[in-house]
Amino acid sequence: MKIIRTRAELRTLTEIWRREGSVIGVVPTMGALHEGHLSLVRGAEAQADRVIVTLFVNPTQFNNPEDLKNYPKTEEDDVRKLAPFAVDVLWAPGAEEMYPEGFATKISVDGISEGLCGGDRPGHFDGVATVVTKLLTQTDADLAFFGEKDWQQLQVVTRLVADLDLRARIVGMPTVREADGLALSSRNLRLTPEKRAAAAALPSEMKRAAAAISGGADAGEALAAARAAVLAAGFNAVDYLELRDGATLAPLDKATPTARIFAAAHIGAVRLIDNMALSG
Ligand code: AMP
Repeated sequence: MKIIRTRAELRTLTEIWRREGSVIGVVPTMGALHEGHLSLVRGAEAQADRVIVTLFVNPTQFNNPEDLKNYPKTEEDDVRKLAPFAVDVLWAPGAEEMYPEGFATKISVDGISEGLCGGDRPGHFDGVATVVTKLLTQTDADLAFFGEKDWQQLQVVTRLVADLDLRARIVGMPTVREADGLALSSRNLRLTPEKRAAAAALPSEMKRAAAAISGGADAGEALAAARAAVLAAGFNAVDYLELRDGATLAPLDKATPTARIFAAAHIGAVRLIDNMALSG
């Protein structure tokens, strides 16, 4: 695996791959890699001829400077974790390579960027949409792998690729969870053992609410009960706990075949997000 930090060097390589007719698969990450990221890498290995993992902690998608400061930066470990895989390139530019002096463009996806994390984190999805557009063009990706864990992000990048006529096809991969149901996240590293144990209440209460709503219970009541249980389990605040359509993200008040439960909640100093379909 070659570690590349300049656009010029990356372009030289992707132009060779393009001439060879290789399918280029890209896995965008912010590092602190875990099994969730590695499942995307496996997807890329299986479907692409050339694999690029990107490692860039994108400052423009952090609306909270403390969150950016505390975000784990573990490049050496990440390189070690990628060693067993057929990854050709780790694309790890610095901020000045990604946003050179004078950078002034912003990609903004209307509609699906609003509400849920878009409501709680102003500017977050503009930051995501802009950096993903850049990563997809820099890497000349044919396929780009994203986790369903960040469902709203997956919808945003799918929309922008269609709207901007980008080459890449977006491939969504299922959420990887710990044995107790907690979705793997780089942010879990910042939980104390006590908070880590309590954090499993988020997916378990979402699951309980999903089963109740599927069984015909009132969605508002089921979600209010889940919110109370999550707070009782040790979370300090719930940003949202909502039933929405998986494709349009429009709010729903009862079960439909495409309905999903979406949640964001704070435990200790960490904000966790999760989502799941009503069935399965
Ligand atoms: P991040 O480094 O957190 O920005 O995540 C990089 C990619 O990994 C995104 O597409 C995430 O949705 C995906 N990802 C993060 N956690 C998981 C997980 N537990 N399961 C599957 N994919 C994940």
